[in-house]
Amino acid sequence: MPHRSGRHFLQIPGPTNVPDRVLRAIDHATIDHRSQDFAALGEGLLAALKKVFRTSGPVIVFPSSGTGAWEAALVNTLSPGDRVLMFETGHFATLWRQMAQKLGLEVEFVVGDWRHGVDPDELERRLAADKAHALKAVMAVHNETSTGVTSRIAELRAAIDRVRHPALFMVDTISSLASIDYRHEEWKVDVTVAGSQKGLMLPPGLGFNAVSAKALEAAKRARLPKSYWDWQPMLDSNKKGFFPYTPATNLLYGLKEALAMLEEEGLDNVFVRHDRHAEATRRAVRAWGLEVLAQDPREYSSSLTAVLMPEGHSADALRRAILERFDMSLGSGLGKVADKVFRIGHLGDFNDLMLSGTLCGIEMGLGIAGVPHRRGGVDAALDYLGGNRAA
Ligand SMILES: *Cc1c(COP(=O)(O)O)cnc(C)c1O
Repeated sequence: MPHRSGRHFLQIPGPTNVPDRVLRAIDHATIDHRSQDFAALGEGLLAALKKVFRTSGPVIVFPSSGTGAWEAALVNTLSPGDRVLMFETGHFATLWRQMAQKLGLEVEFVVGDWRHGVDPDELERRLAADKAHALKAVMAVHNETSTGVTSRIAELRAAIDRVRHPALFMVDTISSLASIDYRHEEWKVDVTVAGSQKGLMLPPGLGFNAVSAKALEAAKRARLPKSYWDWQPMLDSNKKGFFPYTPATNLLYGLKEALAMLEEEGLDNVFVRHDRHAEATRRAVRAWGLEVLAQDPREYSSSLTAVLMPEGHSADALRRAILERFDMSLGSGLGKVADKVFRIGHLGDFNDLMLSGTLCGIEMGLGIAGVPHRRGGVDAALDYLGGNRAA
């Protein structure tokens, strides 16, 4: 590798750029996780986390990736052979479905085209047809990170309520929490799944479950085997700020700092910032003459944009050229859209100049890689951001 000066641009949709404040907070002596000092940290954190999920109920923290938090959601609430309803919004929804099947659940999987989110009408039809209430849970990925499509969770909730179906509602917010408006309690979500390394601006290593009273009730009867992921010992220890096994102490220091940063900016402002960067990015993509993968403007993701390559051109070759020349990582196409799309992460600790630099790197990369496009994407984004005022 040639020598690289300056900062690497990490513009994948997770893990995201970790702010210096968070890195400094993690750089701290590891303390005894059975000590009173630790309990004070634990108690403060578990309370502060509720605000980000917009819940008054418990938020459970695992030393895990987001995938672990997916598993925890399933094994704590369901029993072998239970029927559940899932939607093929993209790669992550497909992986969660595979996990559910491996765990012995019966998955009704609604096929999708990877360009749309979960359709509230389809959800309503499926639940209305389930007169016997055989479906025990409905799962949705809020922000499908493989496609840049955000499902409308409030509308999904309303669809469930219209048919008065008692299924549990579980939502993966791994790439939306603290980037895109999300309300665990108001939307009556039973288990919200999240992870540390995307909107929360931390390194990978923490998985979260926000749980409703209904989910806790279901947990009493759930018979899927569980041990590491068991909520109950967590809830018992958490009452005093402790954990049943060794938590990721230093990541928790980082989490405290990240939550403070979100609080200082204000969650609503954080969402507006993400919306604005996403809109600027889409304007750049259109000006280049390229296509955004998401097709419904109501479902455009504010945390990332997946861009379709012109027919016959490789997204991976473009990403390679940009990495080699400009030291910037962009997200690859996953699963069905491998090599057909590249993904621009614009979530987490991010600002106008970082976005401008990102788009400059892409515009130059399109030229270097010989991808047919028009110039002017960066200009279109700057116009939108308000930085192109010269006459
Ligand atoms: C990143 C991501 C996952 C996987 O999380 P890991 O931490 O890699 O296990 C799952 N779902 C969504 C929507 C994601 O963005």
